[in-house]
Amino acid sequence: MNPFTAYHIPFLGLKAGVHTFDFVINESFFEEFEYSEISKGNFTVDLKLEKQSTMMVLDFSLEGKVEDTCDRCGMPITLEVTHEDRLIVKYGDETKITEDEILVVSQAEHILELEQYLYEYSHLALPSRRVCDNEDDCDQDALDLLDSLQDDDEDDDIDPRWEALKGLK
Ligand SMILES: [Zn+2]
Repeated sequence: MNPFTAYHIPFLGLKAGVHTFDFVINESFFEEFEYSEISKGNFTVDLKLEKQSTMMVLDFSLEGKVEDTCDRCGMPITLEVTHEDRLIVKYGDETKITEDEILVVSQAEHILELEQYLYEYSHLALPSRRVCDNEDDCDQDALDLLDSLQDDDEDDDIDPRWEALKGLK
């Protein structure tokens, strides 16, 4: 069975006008993607789909929580994230995505498969820097340990293997 049927919209039968859909994406969704950066994540998605005669406009609004680790101290953290995105879908001769990211669906299609978009949007919701809210919230022991490891690196004598190579000159 296709694990993504919950994210498929049979658009052919939709009347012109605005339709709303809700989706939930969770751990089992992300498990289907080999390279997912999110493993433990829960999102709710509100979709507003406006069907017009020559196109559809899809406005997505994602809200979610993602389990990650702090970039600073390595402690588990929960990120609360949101993302909004718009997808334009036009009817055409063949199914493709144009350079300006418009999805063209052929006349033969009658279902919109949204899983790839939801996957991308949930990843776009992730902040580039993922840290505890305040530096004070960080695990101080872990920070101290990291500090001392870094100091060690700086003070380290030259790698003996490098010494050996120099001797070969
Ligand atoms: Zn932290």
